[in-house]
Amino acid sequence: MVLNKKIVTQKKYSQLHRYLVAFFLVYLMERYAQSNSKGYILPFAVILPVFLADFILAVKDYFNNRKILYVLRFIQITIATGYAIIAEFPYNMAIAILCLVLFFAEYIMAFDYEDVYYRTIAIATGAIPPAVMLIIDAIVAQKIKDRLFPLACVFLILIIFISFVVTLYAKAVNEYNFQVFAKSRLIEDVNQTNEDLRINQEKVKKSNELLGMQKVKLEQAYKEINSINNEMMIQNEIVKYISSSLDIENLMTLITESVLEGMGLDTCILVLNQTEDQNVKYKARTKYGMNEDKEFGELIKKGHFNRYLADSKVFVDNDVEAQKYALPTKSDAGSLLMVPLIKNENQIGLMIVTHAKKDYFTSNVGFFEGIVAQFLVAIDNANLYAKMERMATHDGLTGIYNRGHLTKRFNEFLNASILNKTSLTVALFDIDKFKKVNDSYGHLFGDVVIKTIASLAKEVADDNNAIVGRYGGEEFVIVFPNRGLDDSLKLVEDLHKRIRDTELIHNGESIHINTSIGITSYPETCKNPSELLNRADWAMYYSKQNGRGRVTIDSDFIRESVLLK
Ligand code: GH3
Ligand code: MG
Ligand code: MG
Repeated sequence: MVLNKKIVTQKKYSQLHRYLVAFFLVYLMERYAQSNSKGYILPFAVILPVFLADFILAVKDYFNNRKILYVLRFIQITIATGYAIIAEFPYNMAIAILCLVLFFAEYIMAFDYEDVYYRTIAIATGAIPPAVMLIIDAIVAQKIKDRLFPLACVFLILIIFISFVVTLYAKAVNEYNFQVFAKSRLIEDVNQTNEDLRINQEKVKKSNELLGMQKVKLEQAYKEINSINNEMMIQNEIVKYISSSLDIENLMTLITESVLEGMGLDTCILVLNQTEDQNVKYKARTKYGMNEDKEFGELIKKGHFNRYLADSKVFVDNDVEAQKYALPTKSDAGSLLMVPLIKNENQIGLMIVTHAKKDYFTSNVGFFEGIVAQFLVAIDNANLYAKMERMATHDGLTGIYNRGHLTKRFNEFLNASILNKTSLTVALFDIDKFKKVNDSYGHLFGDVVIKTIASLAKEVADDNNAIVGRYGGEEFVIVFPNRGLDDSLKLVEDLHKRIRDTELIHNGESIHINTSIGITSYPETCKNPSELLNRADWAMYYSKQNGRGRVTIDSDFIRESVLLK
């Protein structure tokens, strides 16, 4: 860069230099023409080729090579010095010395003159031709000996002068360069500061981006916590229902409703296909309304989901195609989940839920499995409760009411009868000679006899809005609410006959059983309702006392005769 600058300066300078030399050549020609002296033709002959060389080198760009430049300038100094020595005083010599000043300055400028070291070399080498020329002149050309000292002085002064000017100029250039350098340094500093600022801005931007990402992550986590919280709330609600309700139907309604609402689902269905009464039980809740609930229920009843009921695995479809499943007409479900209800390795039902969004059932599948598990516990609880309730109210052998529950129901009917002034008839019957049955055929057969008679009595009771219970070992009571004596007697007599006619087989032997029955009715035969059971018992006892296998209608006479005995 610095080098190029110098060469450009040299080129510009050499133009001026060329005009000067061209003018000098013209001057020499003119002088020669005037005086015809050889003193002009010699320098002309020497300067012309150097002038041409300078011109050609400048045109051909040889100045780019500094060595050529040094050599050329050196030759020019030598020629100018030589001419100054031989030139006539005062004009020719003055021109020669001016040329020498010019070439000498150009020679130094070709070096890195700003640097003291190169400048010193340039001045020292540039001073060689004048010095050598003066010595040669002193030795060879004796006749101009008187000019030697003044010339030497002139050269010396010139060299010192040029050196001084160049040094001053170099200093100025250095100063300028330093200022330029300082300026560029300042610009660099500013640039650096800008760059630092930019980097910091970048960092701040990155930090902001990071913060933004963390914000998104936090929002995501917040959403997840919210949804888990929501799921937990629904779970809690369902646990509360489970502990507060033992009615399966009611539970199914509560679960489907709270899951649908809580999770913002489109549909939520619970299907139970293995129930006590073998009917498919279902609860369907949709966001569309009651009609759709019903429509969905009917689809389930028609067995549209049976193939999923048969597969005991969780089924997820997060990209539901339209019309693929038997969903309500209005449904535009994007995701569908089916969770089977498994009890003792048997699939007893299914939970079907749908959501409008696609890819909805992902990490929340566990929640729905949890709901199903809790529902299964609820079913177990309800079944257990039902079983216990049955055990508490029904007789284990016959399945009809036990004495305690029969008495309870009897009292209810009794109170209603008194309140409504309606009839209440009671029949008590006891198997005749049952001990003998047990003794002859064994207790197991005795049990069969008891069960048979109980089921015959139950048929009559069920068909006539009556109730039947096992009152003792082989004693039974039928209570006919809202039925008078005559009506009831007819039914009882029919039952008595049916029992008697029933053939029981034991080891190929045909056995017939008979019973003794007592019947009483409020208010016809028994005015005091609290005496009903006793009066039935007395009447039955009367049957026993009077040949067994008969029906005795309660009366005051019967009462007296039994109590007297
Ligand atoms: P009757 O009533 O005609 O006077 O004679 P009975 O032989 O039936 O006499 P009783 O009523 O006193 O006897 C009832 C018998 O029923 C006594 C008991 O061994 C039997 N028994 C009671 N409960 C059961 C039962 O659950 N299974 C069987 N196999 N026998 C029972
Ligand atoms: Mg008895
Ligand atoms: Mg008996």
